[in-house]
Amino acid sequence: MKHTLRFRAYLADDVASEAWRHIDILRQIRNHAVRHYYNSDYNDRPSDYDQHDKLTEWTDRWPTFAEPSQHAAQQAISQIHSDLETLQERRNEGYSVGRLKWQGTGEFRSLSYNQPRRWNADHNTGDDRFVRLRLEKISWFKIRAERDVPPTEDSDEVILKKETTGEWYVSLVTTVEDTSEKPPLSEIEPEDCVGVDLGITNYIHTSENLSVDTLERVGLAESDEYDRYAREQRKLARKEHGSANWEKQRQSVARAKRTIKRKVRDYQHKLTTWLVQEYDVVAVEDLDVKPMLETSQSAKNKQDAAWARFIELLEYKADLHGTHVEKVKPEGTTKECACCGVETAKPLWVREHSCPACGHEDDRDLNAAKNILTRGLRQLGAGRSEETPVQTALPTFTPQREAVDAKRVVEAGSSGIVRKTQSSMMTRDSVSRTT
Ligand SMILES: [Zn+2]
Repeated sequence: MKHTLRFRAYLADDVASEAWRHIDILRQIRNHAVRHYYNSDYNDRPSDYDQHDKLTEWTDRWPTFAEPSQHAAQQAISQIHSDLETLQERRNEGYSVGRLKWQGTGEFRSLSYNQPRRWNADHNTGDDRFVRLRLEKISWFKIRAERDVPPTEDSDEVILKKETTGEWYVSLVTTVEDTSEKPPLSEIEPEDCVGVDLGITNYIHTSENLSVDTLERVGLAESDEYDRYAREQRKLARKEHGSANWEKQRQSVARAKRTIKRKVRDYQHKLTTWLVQEYDVVAVEDLDVKPMLETSQSAKNKQDAAWARFIELLEYKADLHGTHVEKVKPEGTTKECACCGVETAKPLWVREHSCPACGHEDDRDLNAAKNILTRGLRQLGAGRSEETPVQTALPTFTPQREAVDAKRVVEAGSSGIVRKTQSSMMTRDSVSRTT
């Protein structure tokens, strides 16, 4: 399996501007190849290989295209085809997906090489905190060696990326050989399965009713940093905009934010390790397609991007530890009743799940986590004829499920509420009044 090691990179100004210029040319090549792909006849779309061939033609016509490493250009084209495959897989799974988009300046931020002869590493820098790296067509630069930097021939791929913060990073992708076998489904006990509901950046709730509060007590999460960040921001708001004090305070805000980012990363590491050590099956919501398709900087997208990293990390560790990770469709996990499956609309501020159909009551996030687990287990057990513990772990559905028309229940519930609180909040009161 693949393992990615990420290192902070320090590029001299001239090297950085040259690397960024190359990345922007690669973006144009990518856009050109995407257009070429979609403009081709539907039944005769070019393959990865066809477009690599075309590259020579394109560079003859547009000499700028010849400036970056042509290997990196091929890699950028190959990325399109791997994205197209991902889109197709998602479409096959029933998701509605769009087409690959044209990318504007700054939306394409990295270049990659997957042949070791395209780069060199120099471990003898006289300072063991740093290793020097050289990439084809890009000069030497330093990377911070927080952990061992593998020798050149051990990496399958090198990716140089400029983050939106302006910081540069290098990822070295290596292959890890011996990993644990995943336990066969027939040997998995129900108590070794967990569903995880992902909340705001560092908040989770599991189907065993563990949430960040509880996890904090076992040393898995910290929230003091958030208080500090909020405090620093409030202080900033009181300073005169643009003054020396304001500038000083702005830096404190940035520092507090950085601390949170590091903590989140650290927390994600601890959390994923804990999950794969504790459980044989971990079910999570599937969020990973969004960062690829959308480039908007909205808070929701940033949060999804953070969770996409979390899921990636979880899958990586699950492979090492022999744990099944099941990604399930996130739609409706909050609305659905974990006991009977009837859907009840609830706005965000309703923290309790209270089912009008079967009377089941749970914390909102716990109910969602249980649904995620159910979906994961159903997915995992799908297509198997023998009875597995995975199947017996599914909540037993009462005959009510067939008897009750979910739509009718939701409508009855919401109409009850409009009268009561001018919202669609559903409480047991409103239900009993309307019935
Ligand atoms: Zn119910």
